Amino acid sequence: MEAIITYRPDAQKTPGLYDRILTNEILRDICVRVTGQDRFTVVRDTSTYNRGRLVIIEYRGIKSFVSLSEVLVEGRNQSVQSIPTAINLYYADCYSNKTLYYYFMPHSGNYFTDYHLFYFRLLKTAGVVFLNILRYYPADINAFESIDELIDERNDNRKTNRSNNSSFISKTSDKVQIYAKTYGASKYESTLLAIAAAAITDRPIDLYNICEQDLTRLPQSSLNTINAIGNISIYDTSITLEKKRFISLARNNEFRSPIYQRNLLQKLGRKRCVLCGCEIPEIIQGAHIWGVAEIARDNHFNDDRKFDHAISGENGLWLCQNHHKLFDSHYLSFDMDGNVLIPGNLRTEYGQFIHAITKNEHLDNLIMTDNFKWYLSQRNSIRDYSCYQCLFI
Ligand SMILES: [Zn+2]
Repeated sequence: MEAIITYRPDAQKTPGLYDRILTNEILRDICVRVTGQDRFTVVRDTSTYNRGRLVIIEYRGIKSFVSLSEVLVEGRNQSVQSIPTAINLYYADCYSNKTLYYYFMPHSGNYFTDYHLFYFRLLKTAGVVFLNILRYYPADINAFESIDELIDERNDNRKTNRSNNSSFISKTSDKVQIYAKTYGASKYESTLLAIAAAAITDRPIDLYNICEQDLTRLPQSSLNTINAIGNISIYDTSITLEKKRFISLARNNEFRSPIYQRNLLQKLGRKRCVLCGCEIPEIIQGAHIWGVAEIARDNHFNDDRKFDHAISGENGLWLCQNHHKLFDSHYLSFDMDGNVLIPGNLRTEYGQFIHAITKNEHLDNLIMTDNFKWYLSQRNSIRDYSCYQCLFI
């Protein structure tokens, strides 16, 4: 029995591209790897151009979608931009007995940067099968085994350039949250992150799309894919939208912001209490240094600036529930050197308890940026901390 290999020869901007790069040798290699034998017939579908860099193989009742890599890696977004389209087309196909593959074409440029390897792990987790990676890279790609591993890998990279990251993931006791910007290629990355997360967690996933300017929703094809997977809810938000909410809610301290959470993940990395080291994400919270209600009451700034302060990743710490409550209740504070303080007249048992649950004497230098210190000075100017003393004397 022969396999039927179908591809569309024209790229959107390059007629005949796939006739040129899909040599007989490559088609045969793909055929053998997908079907285990080398007999095939080629069908060139000229009805429209090729989206998703796809080759379709039908063999023994199985439909295989093979997405081809670029042949020239020019930029990290460019190099993976066709994959989300392939995923969307794969999910949109109503054939049930199907598999999605990824095939590395002979290429120039580096397909195995840290960014690519993370992206490929997401693909593998989402169910994509790599056909020939070992020809170009010394190790296979491992899927993420748990949502915690995925969260760590995504957010725990303080020493590398996190500003390149546009999407972040965390979880609470009952849900997984994905925070993503929706411009450019990032909107597709957030979709992939959601698909991968859905494959390894039973918890519902909230996907927050954070639009920098106007509300730009995810592409309809991505929405269809997410709907097909289920268990993922999409929330669109934007600076404009959150600013309105801030103005109406901040004074009552009822302002909760996905953008603030995203900014904290960007500055601080994964959720980890700075005082006790607790890493159980369900009980780690973003704690404002200069509180939202205080910001709202301040007379020095207009609403736009106040909002900027309320969502700034510099204006916060990860604290566990205990330390957060102690901090908000002023049982704990920090001096301008980042040392942990408690009230001088605190009941002995309270002090002993706080001492017992607190491991760190002062805040890490990575946290104590000039901007962070400015927020600390705002906080410390509101209340008299002169009778406070260091927790660790
Ligand atoms: Zn703690």
